[in-house]
Amino acid sequence: MIHITAKQIHDIGNRFQWIYSGLAVLLCMLPALSIQAAERIRSDLTLDEIPFNGQRAYEYLKQICDIGPRPSGSQGMVQQQEMLKKHFTALGGSVVEQRFQTQHPLTGAPCGLANLIVTWHPDKKERILLATHYDTRPLPDEDPNPDRRQHGRFIGANDGASGVAIFMEMAHSMPKHSGRYGIDFVMLDGEEFIFGSSSRSQERGRYFLGSEWFAKEYVKNPPSHTYRWGVLLDMIGDSDLQIYKERNSIRWKETRPLVEEIWATAAKLGVKEFIHEAGYNVLDDHIRLRNVGKIPTCNIIDFDFPVSPNNRNWPNNHYWHTEADTPARCSALSLAKVGWVIQEWMKNTK
Ligand SMILES: [Zn+2]
Repeated sequence: MIHITAKQIHDIGNRFQWIYSGLAVLLCMLPALSIQAAERIRSDLTLDEIPFNGQRAYEYLKQICDIGPRPSGSQGMVQQQEMLKKHFTALGGSVVEQRFQTQHPLTGAPCGLANLIVTWHPDKKERILLATHYDTRPLPDEDPNPDRRQHGRFIGANDGASGVAIFMEMAHSMPKHSGRYGIDFVMLDGEEFIFGSSSRSQERGRYFLGSEWFAKEYVKNPPSHTYRWGVLLDMIGDSDLQIYKERNSIRWKETRPLVEEIWATAAKLGVKEFIHEAGYNVLDDHIRLRNVGKIPTCNIIDFDFPVSPNNRNWPNNHYWHTEADTPARCSALSLAKVGWVIQEWMKNTK
């Protein structure tokens, strides 16, 4: 157990810091704790009992993955953008592409990226920002097969499509959304336009390009509205769902109440997979949104993909950035649970 944990800390590189506390003893105990939790914590809700159409969300997830890999600047990304623009417009959202330029991490050639922003109830000047990334990692660089790390195909069902699928489903009810705040969805590009493995410290490229651009624009060219809250969804489709409170989100004093509200909503609904304990310290798009954009944004992420006590090499995360991140590892029920909690929270937050 100690060996595995130490390896993971080494492997995760600069994106995810697996530091739970300064106490080595806690660090050693953690995998055991989360595995037990996985066996313990599961709500017995069924799809029929959840007023968020998880099955249709899952169909959307598959539809997105059918496009294939969707890294920044790729043909797959363009195809995805076309599909999403059509989808959200048809359901009454207004869609804006926020375009920006970067350099290709390998060639240095100019490369066009775009965040996709979907606005609901534009008359409301106080708004909630729901964010997710919609680019996929260019390669499955944590794949167990070394050849696939360089030449494989990464379709990011959980890490890329799951948040977008929830937005696509949520869009159906957005025109009748009755909460205090207007809602914007932002699908962020360039979250991980990164080549090379994070576990082998050979990465080329910069993380969080889309959220950085969005946050800077929000500050530099302030719109007529303000974001009261931001909620980032990432990797929330895992069929073995458990969502711990992300450490930055509970450490920042302005986002702590947000986390408390969302977890209290989950508790009220009986969605026990929102676990009332601190989990990982995750570097993700919420850092730029909060630090640069000053939008109080929490991260909702299930970074154990999945907890799998039988896999001794990757007991917590052995599908992450591998070719195994496919729709088969995600579920309609997980999408339904997360979608329901967020939708319910948005309706009721004051
Ligand atoms: Zn990723």
